[in-house]
Amino acid sequence: MGFRIAWHPGAVSILYPNGDVLALDLCGRPFAVFMDGRSYRRGLGGRILQIVRTITGRRGFEDVVGTEKVRLISRIFDRLTGSRINDLSSIDNGITKYKRFDRWLTERRLKSVTDLQRDALRYSEVYGRVGILPPDQYQSIVIQLTRGCAYNRCRFCRFYRGETYQVLDKRQLEEHIFSVSEYLGPALPVRNRIWLGEASVLGVEQDHLVGCVETVRNHLSGPARGGLAAFGDLIVSRKRSVKEYRDLCQAGLQRLYIGIESGCPEIRKALHKPLDDEMVLKTLNAMREGGISINPIFLLGAGGLAAEEQHVKGTADLLSRLEVRPGERVYLSPIVAGDDDGVELLGAGTRPLTPEQIDRQRSLLESLVPGEFRFATYDIRGFLY
Ligand code: SF4
Repeated sequence: MGFRIAWHPGAVSILYPNGDVLALDLCGRPFAVFMDGRSYRRGLGGRILQIVRTITGRRGFEDVVGTEKVRLISRIFDRLTGSRINDLSSIDNGITKYKRFDRWLTERRLKSVTDLQRDALRYSEVYGRVGILPPDQYQSIVIQLTRGCAYNRCRFCRFYRGETYQVLDKRQLEEHIFSVSEYLGPALPVRNRIWLGEASVLGVEQDHLVGCVETVRNHLSGPARGGLAAFGDLIVSRKRSVKEYRDLCQAGLQRLYIGIESGCPEIRKALHKPLDDEMVLKTLNAMREGGISINPIFLLGAGGLAAEEQHVKGTADLLSRLEVRPGERVYLSPIVAGDDDGVELLGAGTRPLTPEQIDRQRSLLESLVPGEFRFATYDIRGFLY
């Protein structure tokens, strides 16, 4: 039986006649697999998510753990090794590609379950862990200029609880960039953009931040061409002038993702994220004037069912005043029933919405804002790095 090979920057995919697909980076880390009718994604840290369809047809994610995970990885590597013994005549798309593939099978850094376990440990040394990324940034190179959250008090957020906000100095940043580059090795080109820090880079003093963005761009010039983005915040960071945002933009920062959560001030307050509408608009517009694009993030289900009307109307109003620009996207992040601590996350007595109610709320919101808005789902359950 033949199979096809497709080379990509920093990666290879093997496509089998029965529809199975294995995608691995050039170090040998599987990152996307379709096998036996099942779809999997694997993160650098070793976590594997199976993408499933729930009984209602929605996309869901299930962790693959324990012996099932070991079995899956073994099967992937067996399949790869099995691909080698096919004779050259079985290859559909060229002997040269096959020879390169055969050489890569021998030379790749990671060939076994144990190798991948060691690699995941190395990932922990380099990163500790990566808390969360927006869904369009899962393939970025993460450079942890900041760790933790400078605010850390939003009721619905558990990403950095108990962690102290830290900022790397220039020497630490250069060492970190070196470790990340070494860790990714020949797989680095798979990741064609850069994500800077945790929450948020705006907590970094201006001159240091400008210098760090330049340093990252200089050391990782290839992926930096794909864009450099980060989380921004509107609560604890010092407000910057348009010129300061322009300096950041000229240094290389292109996009900020800002969690606004709701267009209703009372709901934001209940979520422990007290923001003033006018300040939100003024600050986001100053960022844009400085040349930085904005991707605002709102929660679906904030305030629960009881406050749905205020949440949807307030958010639609704020979005209309925000006038999202070309290239900008509005992220909608659902809080759904089934989150084990959803009640506490939303405030005492407020129940999270069901998936059906979340879908309805999204449609309602979309129907209330002008057609040019680009909405995207930000489902934190699908996060993997
Ligand atoms: S500012 Fe962002 S990262 Fe920090 S606690 Fe709030 S939602 Fe979480």
